[in-house]
Amino acid sequence: MVGGGPGGRALALALTRLGCDVVLLEKRNPARGTGPAFRGESLSPDGVRLLAGLGVWERVREAAHRVDRLEIEDAGHRVLGVRFADFPYRYRHPVELAQPTLLAALAEPTGSQPGTCTVLEPATVVGLLVEGPAVTGVRASTPGGTVRISAALTVGADGRFSAVRRLSGLAERARQLPLERDVVWLKLPTPAGWDRRAYRVRIAGGSHGLFLPSTDGTVRVGLNIPKGGLRELRAGGLGLLHTRLAQLAPEAAESAREGVRNWSDTALLDIFTTEVPRWSAPGVVLLGDAAHTLSPVLGQGVNHALADAVELAPLVAEALSRDRRARNRALTTALQLFQRRREPDVRRSRALQLRQERMFTLTSPPATALRRTLYRALDASPALRRRVLAPAYFPGQSPSAPPEAAHSSPSEVTPA
Ligand SMILES: Cc1cc2nc3c(=O)[nH]c(=O)nc-3n(C[C@H](O)[C@H](O)[C@H](O)COP(=O)(O)OP(=O)(O)OC[C@H]3O[C@@H](n4cnc5c(N)ncnc54)[C@H](O)[C@@H]3O)c2cc1C
Repeated sequence: MVGGGPGGRALALALTRLGCDVVLLEKRNPARGTGPAFRGESLSPDGVRLLAGLGVWERVREAAHRVDRLEIEDAGHRVLGVRFADFPYRYRHPVELAQPTLLAALAEPTGSQPGTCTVLEPATVVGLLVEGPAVTGVRASTPGGTVRISAALTVGADGRFSAVRRLSGLAERARQLPLERDVVWLKLPTPAGWDRRAYRVRIAGGSHGLFLPSTDGTVRVGLNIPKGGLRELRAGGLGLLHTRLAQLAPEAAESAREGVRNWSDTALLDIFTTEVPRWSAPGVVLLGDAAHTLSPVLGQGVNHALADAVELAPLVAEALSRDRRARNRALTTALQLFQRRREPDVRRSRALQLRQERMFTLTSPPATALRRTLYRALDASPALRRRVLAPAYFPGQSPSAPPEAAHSSPSEVTPA
């Protein structure tokens, strides 16, 4: 397993439970802290369902922050309000969950694990071992020198800039689609009076920001800027950043000045999606961001990485249980089936995200007026809301299931 993000850790857990032996290589040095503070905190309801299926939800439930509402304001007017409790699914609320908490829970061994998982970190995969047409393992650089690890299957769970994708040749026909904007991530103290159980999207002309309640009591903000626009923003100084934030959320003006005092309080995410036509080749498979990088809209990345792992594990375990002669063919078939089963959901999420991205970038007065009309139509029709949001939030669930017991306290509002 190359990469110890949500996808790699979830697959390692599922495979060891099915009796497979896994070696997981992660390039991050655990001694240098827990990793990026901004990424992968929003988990969609389907992500919660998948964690429950893995038996991991109970471990993180207390640390997760339930979100009750999504609210979109355009040009200062509320145009869409979604109450997640209104959807007829068992897992209906998204949650905020710090990625280190999620990764630690996925890495925790459970009682019934017939397989083993050996973790090497820091270990950076720098090459693949190849025999004929098949990948047979990896070469990795570690503090103790280079190691070679042979494997019946090598999994590229190494994220949006996947080395396994590039080294295996699977990147050759991949299509990277740059979106029209980048996102600056930062955290602010929660503005007075804000409901900490709400996702807020604020739009003003062609500019928008996501304001998400974080588990540490702050608000995680994704502020969109034009593609490559960071240099211009920085040239305007922190004052310009504070002004942009205040234009979108006037109530957050003071929090912006208080919370962002240095550019090191921010992180830039280059937004693109990647479509990889083939997710596997003999002896190697990609999953999560390595197979399909998505944009941050509606917090879909972690969810899809977990869904990949849950789908892939039994297929791989079954193929690896065959005798040596039948195994390679069974594995090739299993990996192809994995892509066929997972790709439609990924496509639907990508299409929804791209439609939403286009809506965000409209600037002309007629186009922004049309955008507001569309959001209001969605606001007025529960059936339409469900049709639009179900592919992103509830793809693996059937309607009319009783709700999961509430896992956290009722709505909190910060004192004004
Ligand atoms: C700023 C930011 C905010 C985001 N917010 C959200 C959100 O709120 N909700 C959401 O669902 N998604 C979010 N995402 C996307 C989400 O983080 C990813 O979609 C998700 O983590 C994908 O999981 P993964 O396991 O496929 O890859 P990753 O989480 O990227 O994990 C890949 C792992 O591989 C390791 N690695 C890379 N190369 C090598 C190598 N050569 N050798 C060994 N190890 C290697 C990396 O260190 C990393 O730990 C965000 C992303 C960013 C950058």
